[in-house]
Amino acid sequence: MATVGFIGLGNMGGPMAANLAKAGHAVKAFDLSDAALKAVQEAGATPCNSAKEVIQDVEFVVSMLPADHHVEGVYLGDDGLINHLQSSQLVIDCSTISSEAAIYVGGELEKAGIAFIDAPVSGGVGGAKAGTLTFICGGTESNVDRARSVLNDMGKNVFRAGDVGAGQIAKICNNMLLSVLMVGTSEALQLGKANGLDPKVLSEIMLQSSGRNWTLEVYNPCPGVMDNVPSSNDYQGGFMVDLMAKDLGLAQQTALKAGAATPMGSLTRNLYHSWSQQGHGRQDFSSIFNYVQPAAKK
Ligand code: NAD
Repeated sequence: MATVGFIGLGNMGGPMAANLAKAGHAVKAFDLSDAALKAVQEAGATPCNSAKEVIQDVEFVVSMLPADHHVEGVYLGDDGLINHLQSSQLVIDCSTISSEAAIYVGGELEKAGIAFIDAPVSGGVGGAKAGTLTFICGGTESNVDRARSVLNDMGKNVFRAGDVGAGQIAKICNNMLLSVLMVGTSEALQLGKANGLDPKVLSEIMLQSSGRNWTLEVYNPCPGVMDNVPSSNDYQGGFMVDLMAKDLGLAQQTALKAGAATPMGSLTRNLYHSWSQQGHGRQDFSSIFNYVQPAAKK
Protein backbone atom coordinates (compact mmCIF):
# COMPACT_ATOMS: atom_id res chain seq x y z
CA MET A 1 0.00 0.00 0.00
CA ALA A 2 1.20 3.53 -0.78
CA THR A 3 1.41 6.83 1.03
CA VAL A 4 -0.59 9.54 -0.73
CA GLY A 5 -1.00 13.29 -0.24
CA PHE A 6 -4.34 14.50 -1.66
CA ILE A 7 -5.12 18.16 -2.42
CA GLY A 8 -8.67 19.29 -3.37
CA LEU A 9 -11.53 17.39 -1.73
CA GLY A 10 -14.58 18.70 -3.58
CA ASN A 11 -17.35 16.78 -5.34
CA MET A 12 -14.74 14.59 -7.05
CA GLY A 13 -11.62 14.73 -4.87
CA GLY A 14 -13.53 13.93 -1.64
CA PRO A 15 -14.82 10.51 -2.73
CA MET A 16 -11.57 9.75 -4.60
CA ALA A 17 -9.48 10.33 -1.47
CA ALA A 18 -12.03 8.33 0.56
CA ASN A 19 -11.66 5.36 -1.81
CA LEU A 20 -7.88 5.45 -1.48
CA ALA A 21 -8.20 5.37 2.30
CA LYS A 22 -10.77 2.56 2.13
CA ALA A 23 -8.40 0.54 -0.08
CA GLY A 24 -5.77 0.73 2.68
CA HIS A 25 -3.46 3.51 1.44
CA ALA A 26 -2.20 5.99 4.04
CA VAL A 27 -3.86 9.21 2.84
CA LYS A 28 -3.06 12.73 4.03
CA ALA A 29 -5.54 15.29 2.74
CA PHE A 30 -5.97 19.06 2.40
CA ASP A 31 -8.71 21.39 1.18
CA LEU A 32 -9.51 25.03 1.87
CA SER A 33 -12.94 23.88 3.10
CA ASP A 34 -13.25 22.59 6.68
CA ALA A 35 -16.40 20.65 5.79
CA ALA A 36 -14.53 18.78 3.03
CA LEU A 37 -11.68 17.98 5.44
CA LYS A 38 -14.11 16.67 8.04
CA ALA A 39 -15.84 14.40 5.51
CA VAL A 40 -12.58 12.86 4.34
CA GLN A 41 -11.43 12.35 7.92
CA GLU A 42 -14.59 10.33 8.55
CA ALA A 43 -13.62 8.20 5.55
CA GLY A 44 -10.24 7.35 7.11
CA ALA A 45 -7.82 9.98 5.74
CA THR A 46 -5.64 12.23 7.89
CA PRO A 47 -6.61 15.91 7.56
CA CYS A 48 -3.75 18.44 7.20
CA ASN A 49 -3.54 22.19 7.65
CA SER A 50 -1.80 22.99 4.37
CA ALA A 51 -0.72 21.57 1.03
CA LYS A 52 2.86 21.75 2.29
CA GLU A 53 1.99 19.47 5.20
CA VAL A 54 0.18 17.02 2.91
CA ILE A 55 3.23 16.30 0.76
CA GLN A 56 5.55 15.43 3.63
CA ASP A 57 6.66 11.78 3.63
CA VAL A 58 4.36 10.59 0.83
CA GLU A 59 5.22 8.75 -2.39
CA PHE A 60 2.37 10.16 -4.47
CA VAL A 61 0.81 13.63 -4.56
CA VAL A 62 -2.67 13.74 -6.13
CA SER A 63 -4.47 17.02 -6.86
CA MET A 64 -8.10 17.51 -7.90
CA LEU A 65 -8.60 21.27 -8.28
CA PRO A 66 -11.03 23.38 -10.31
CA ALA A 67 -8.97 25.14 -13.01
CA ASP A 68 -5.57 26.29 -14.38
CA HIS A 69 -4.88 29.03 -11.85
CA HIS A 70 -5.57 26.76 -8.85
CA VAL A 71 -3.13 24.13 -10.12
CA GLU A 72 -0.48 26.69 -11.10
CA GLY A 73 -0.91 28.43 -7.74
CA VAL A 74 -0.57 25.27 -5.65
CA TYR A 75 2.54 23.99 -7.44
CA LEU A 76 4.28 27.11 -8.78
CA GLY A 77 2.80 30.06 -6.81
CA ASP A 78 4.42 31.94 -3.91
CA ASP A 79 6.01 29.28 -1.76
CA GLY A 80 4.45 26.70 -4.14
CA LEU A 81 4.96 22.97 -3.67
CA ILE A 82 7.76 23.00 -6.26
CA ASN A 83 9.97 24.33 -3.46
CA HIS A 84 9.09 21.46 -1.14
CA LEU A 85 8.58 18.33 -3.27
CA GLN A 86 11.21 15.57 -3.34
CA SER A 87 12.61 13.90 -6.47
CA SER A 88 11.32 10.52 -5.20
CA GLN A 89 7.71 11.71 -5.41
CA LEU A 90 5.28 11.45 -8.33
CA VAL A 91 2.74 14.25 -8.85
CA ILE A 92 -0.58 13.16 -10.40
CA ASP A 93 -2.81 16.08 -11.31
CA CYS A 94 -6.38 14.85 -11.94
CA SER A 95 -7.92 18.32 -12.45
CA THR A 96 -9.31 19.21 -15.87
CA ILE A 97 -7.12 22.11 -17.02
CA SER A 98 -5.67 23.36 -20.31
CA SER A 99 -2.99 21.18 -21.86
CA GLU A 100 -0.77 24.32 -21.88
CA ALA A 101 -1.08 24.65 -18.11
CA ALA A 102 -0.36 20.92 -17.63
CA ILE A 103 2.73 21.20 -19.86
CA TYR A 104 3.86 24.35 -18.03
CA VAL A 105 3.43 22.92 -14.52
CA GLY A 106 4.83 19.51 -15.56
CA GLY A 107 7.80 21.16 -17.30
CA GLU A 108 8.68 23.35 -14.31
CA LEU A 109 8.45 20.36 -11.95
CA GLU A 110 10.55 18.26 -14.30
CA LYS A 111 13.25 20.98 -14.34
CA ALA A 112 13.25 20.70 -10.55
CA GLY A 113 13.65 16.89 -10.85
CA ILE A 114 10.06 15.98 -9.92
CA ALA A 115 7.99 13.53 -11.98
CA PHE A 116 4.53 14.64 -13.15
CA ILE A 117 1.58 13.25 -15.08
CA ASP A 118 -1.75 14.84 -15.98
CA ALA A 119 -4.57 12.38 -15.27
CA PRO A 120 -7.98 14.05 -15.75
CA VAL A 121 -10.95 11.78 -15.18
CA SER A 122 -14.26 10.81 -16.71
CA GLY A 123 -17.17 9.18 -14.90
CA GLY A 124 -18.63 11.99 -12.80
CA VAL A 125 -19.35 12.06 -9.08
CA GLY A 126 -21.08 8.67 -9.34
CA GLY A 127 -17.89 7.19 -10.78
CA ALA A 128 -15.76 8.92 -8.14
CA LYS A 129 -17.93 7.46 -5.34
CA ALA A 130 -18.09 3.98 -6.88
CA GLY A 131 -14.36 3.93 -7.69
CA THR A 132 -15.11 3.35 -11.38
CA LEU A 133 -13.51 6.46 -12.92
CA THR A 134 -11.63 6.45 -16.20
CA PHE A 135 -8.21 8.13 -15.93
CA ILE A 136 -6.93 9.73 -19.13
CA CYS A 137 -3.21 10.23 -18.59
CA GLY A 138 -0.44 12.22 -20.19
CA GLY A 139 3.16 11.45 -19.25
CA THR A 140 5.94 8.95 -19.78
CA GLU A 141 4.96 5.30 -19.87
CA SER A 142 6.96 4.59 -16.74
CA ASN A 143 5.35 7.43 -14.76
CA VAL A 144 1.86 6.38 -15.88
CA ASP A 145 2.62 2.76 -14.93
CA ARG A 146 3.91 3.90 -11.57
CA ALA A 147 0.67 5.85 -10.96
CA ARG A 148 -1.49 2.78 -11.61
CA SER A 149 -1.02 1.48 -8.06
CA VAL A 150 -3.11 4.39 -6.76
CA LEU A 151 -5.27 5.13 -9.82
CA ASN A 152 -6.55 1.53 -9.88
CA ASP A 153 -8.10 2.05 -6.44
CA MET A 154 -10.09 5.08 -7.68
CA GLY A 155 -11.09 3.86 -11.12
CA LYS A 156 -11.45 0.93 -13.44
CA ASN A 157 -9.70 2.25 -16.57
CA VAL A 158 -6.30 3.91 -16.90
CA PHE A 159 -5.43 5.13 -20.40
CA ARG A 160 -2.25 6.80 -21.58
CA ALA A 161 -3.10 9.33 -24.33
CA GLY A 162 0.52 10.45 -24.90
CA ASP A 163 3.05 12.76 -23.27
CA VAL A 164 2.29 15.35 -20.56
CA GLY A 165 -0.70 17.47 -21.72
CA ALA A 166 -2.16 14.74 -23.95
CA GLY A 167 -4.49 13.54 -21.18
CA GLN A 168 -6.06 17.01 -21.08
CA ILE A 169 -6.59 17.09 -24.86
CA ALA A 170 -8.36 13.71 -24.80
CA LYS A 171 -10.43 14.79 -21.79
CA ILE A 172 -11.76 17.99 -23.41
CA CYS A 173 -12.59 16.08 -26.61
CA ASN A 174 -14.68 13.77 -24.43
CA ASN A 175 -16.36 16.60 -22.51
CA MET A 176 -17.17 18.52 -25.69
CA LEU A 177 -18.95 15.40 -26.97
CA LEU A 178 -20.68 14.93 -23.60
CA SER A 179 -22.04 18.50 -23.69
CA VAL A 180 -23.47 17.92 -27.18
CA LEU A 181 -25.11 14.67 -26.00
CA MET A 182 -26.53 16.37 -22.89
CA VAL A 183 -28.05 19.28 -24.83
CA GLY A 184 -29.40 16.94 -27.53
CA THR A 185 -30.90 14.55 -24.99
CA SER A 186 -32.50 17.46 -23.11
CA GLU A 187 -34.04 18.81 -26.32
CA ALA A 188 -35.44 15.40 -27.27
CA LEU A 189 -36.97 14.86 -23.81
CA GLN A 190 -38.49 18.36 -23.73
CA LEU A 191 -39.91 17.85 -27.23
CA GLY A 192 -41.52 14.56 -26.20
CA LYS A 193 -42.86 16.04 -22.97
CA ALA A 194 -44.33 19.05 -24.78
CA ASN A 195 -46.21 16.59 -26.98
CA GLY A 196 -47.67 14.62 -24.10
CA LEU A 197 -45.13 11.80 -23.74
CA ASP A 198 -44.02 10.47 -20.36
CA PRO A 199 -40.27 11.28 -20.19
CA LYS A 200 -39.63 7.97 -18.42
CA VAL A 201 -41.22 5.99 -21.25
CA LEU A 202 -39.52 8.14 -23.90
CA SER A 203 -36.17 7.59 -22.15
CA GLU A 204 -36.71 3.81 -22.18
CA ILE A 205 -37.60 3.93 -25.89
CA MET A 206 -34.51 5.99 -26.81
CA LEU A 207 -32.30 3.79 -24.64
CA GLN A 208 -33.24 0.83 -26.84
CA SER A 209 -33.07 2.88 -30.04
CA SER A 210 -30.40 4.70 -32.03
CA GLY A 211 -30.47 7.77 -29.76
CA ARG A 212 -28.96 5.75 -26.91
CA ASN A 213 -26.11 7.55 -25.09
CA TRP A 214 -24.40 7.93 -21.69
CA THR A 215 -26.71 10.70 -20.45
CA LEU A 216 -29.76 8.44 -21.00
CA GLU A 217 -27.99 5.44 -19.50
CA VAL A 218 -26.75 6.92 -16.23
CA TYR A 219 -27.42 10.68 -16.00
CA ASN A 220 -30.93 11.47 -17.23
CA PRO A 221 -31.45 15.28 -17.14
CA CYS A 222 -35.23 15.14 -16.60
CA PRO A 223 -36.21 15.21 -12.89
CA GLY A 224 -37.87 12.05 -11.64
CA VAL A 225 -36.81 9.73 -14.46
CA MET A 226 -33.85 8.28 -12.55
CA ASP A 227 -33.00 8.02 -8.84
CA ASN A 228 -29.66 9.18 -7.46
CA VAL A 229 -28.80 11.63 -10.23
CA PRO A 230 -28.51 15.43 -9.86
CA SER A 231 -31.71 16.11 -11.88
CA SER A 232 -33.70 14.29 -9.18
CA ASN A 233 -31.91 16.29 -6.46
CA ASP A 234 -32.71 19.83 -7.65
CA TYR A 235 -29.54 19.69 -9.84
CA GLN A 236 -27.28 19.71 -6.75
CA GLY A 237 -23.99 17.77 -6.55
CA GLY A 238 -22.47 16.41 -9.75
CA PHE A 239 -20.59 18.48 -12.35
CA MET A 240 -21.21 22.21 -12.15
CA VAL A 241 -22.34 24.27 -15.15
CA ASP A 242 -19.37 26.61 -14.55
CA LEU A 243 -16.93 23.68 -14.79
CA MET A 244 -18.53 22.46 -18.04
CA ALA A 245 -18.39 26.03 -19.41
CA LYS A 246 -14.69 26.12 -18.48
CA ASP A 247 -14.03 22.81 -20.28
CA LEU A 248 -15.90 23.97 -23.37
CA GLY A 249 -13.81 27.17 -23.38
CA LEU A 250 -10.68 25.00 -23.25
CA ALA A 251 -12.02 22.92 -26.16
CA GLN A 252 -12.59 26.07 -28.23
CA GLN A 253 -9.09 27.41 -27.47
CA THR A 254 -7.62 24.07 -28.50
CA ALA A 255 -9.75 23.95 -31.67
CA LEU A 256 -8.72 27.47 -32.69
CA LYS A 257 -5.06 26.65 -32.20
CA ALA A 258 -5.33 23.49 -34.30
CA GLY A 259 -7.66 25.01 -36.93
CA ALA A 260 -10.24 22.33 -36.11
CA ALA A 261 -13.93 22.84 -36.98
CA THR A 262 -16.11 22.41 -33.88
CA PRO A 263 -19.45 24.09 -34.66
CA MET A 264 -21.41 21.96 -32.17
CA GLY A 265 -18.79 22.48 -29.45
CA SER A 266 -18.93 26.23 -30.09
CA LEU A 267 -22.72 26.21 -29.78
CA THR A 268 -22.77 24.22 -26.54
CA ARG A 269 -20.05 26.48 -25.11
CA ASN A 270 -22.32 29.48 -25.75
CA LEU A 271 -25.35 27.69 -24.27
CA TYR A 272 -23.49 26.74 -21.06
CA HIS A 273 -21.92 30.20 -20.77
CA SER A 274 -25.29 31.86 -21.11
CA TRP A 275 -26.93 29.39 -18.65
CA SER A 276 -24.21 30.24 -16.15
CA GLN A 277 -24.77 33.97 -16.65
CA GLN A 278 -28.45 33.44 -15.89
CA GLY A 279 -27.43 32.31 -12.39
CA HIS A 280 -27.16 28.54 -12.82
CA GLY A 281 -23.36 28.23 -12.65
CA ARG A 282 -23.34 26.12 -9.48
CA GLN A 283 -26.06 23.72 -10.61
CA ASP A 284 -25.21 20.40 -12.21
CA PHE A 285 -24.64 20.58 -16.00
CA SER A 286 -27.76 18.45 -16.66
CA SER A 287 -29.79 21.54 -15.60
CA ILE A 288 -29.37 22.68 -19.24
CA PHE A 289 -32.61 20.64 -19.54
CA ASN A 290 -34.41 23.72 -18.14
CA TYR A 291 -32.71 26.06 -20.63
CA VAL A 292 -34.33 24.22 -23.53
CA GLN A 293 -37.83 24.02 -22.07
CA PRO A 294 -40.57 25.10 -24.47
CA ALA A 295 -41.89 28.65 -24.27
CA ALA A 296 -45.20 28.92 -22.43
CA LYS A 297 -48.11 28.71 -24.86
CA LYS A 298 -49.98 31.98 -25.35
P1 NAD B 1 -15.30 21.25 -6.68
O1 NAD B 1 -15.43 22.71 -6.88
O2 NAD B 1 -16.41 20.47 -6.08
O3 NAD B 1 -13.96 20.93 -5.81
C1 NAD B 1 -12.78 21.63 -5.91
C2 NAD B 1 -12.16 21.67 -4.52
O4 NAD B 1 -10.86 22.27 -4.59
C3 NAD B 1 -12.98 22.50 -3.53
O5 NAD B 1 -13.30 21.70 -2.40
C4 NAD B 1 -12.03 23.65 -3.16
O6 NAD B 1 -12.16 24.08 -1.82
C5 NAD B 1 -10.67 23.01 -3.41
N1 NAD B 1 -9.58 23.97 -3.61
C6 NAD B 1 -9.54 25.05 -4.43
N2 NAD B 1 -8.34 25.67 -4.32
C7 NAD B 1 -7.62 24.96 -3.42
C8 NAD B 1 -6.31 25.08 -2.88
N3 NAD B 1 -5.50 26.09 -3.25
N4 NAD B 1 -5.89 24.18 -1.97
C9 NAD B 1 -6.71 23.15 -1.59
N5 NAD B 1 -7.96 22.98 -2.05
C10 NAD B 1 -8.41 23.87 -2.96
O7 NAD B 1 -14.94 20.66 -8.13
P2 NAD B 1 -15.04 19.13 -8.63
O8 NAD B 1 -16.38 18.90 -9.22
O9 NAD B 1 -14.53 18.24 -7.55
O10 NAD B 1 -14.03 19.19 -9.87
C11 NAD B 1 -12.63 19.19 -9.69
C12 NAD B 1 -11.98 19.01 -11.06
O11 NAD B 1 -12.46 17.78 -11.65
C13 NAD B 1 -12.33 20.11 -12.07
O12 NAD B 1 -11.21 20.41 -12.85
C14 NAD B 1 -13.43 19.49 -12.90
O13 NAD B 1 -13.50 20.06 -14.21
C15 NAD B 1 -13.02 18.03 -12.92
N6 NAD B 1 -14.09 17.05 -13.12
C16 NAD B 1 -15.26 17.14 -12.43
C17 NAD B 1 -16.25 16.17 -12.64
C18 NAD B 1 -17.57 16.22 -11.90
O14 NAD B 1 -18.49 15.46 -12.28
N7 NAD B 1 -17.71 17.04 -10.88
C19 NAD B 1 -16.04 15.12 -13.53
C20 NAD B 1 -14.81 15.04 -14.19
C21 NAD B 1 -13.84 16.01 -13.98
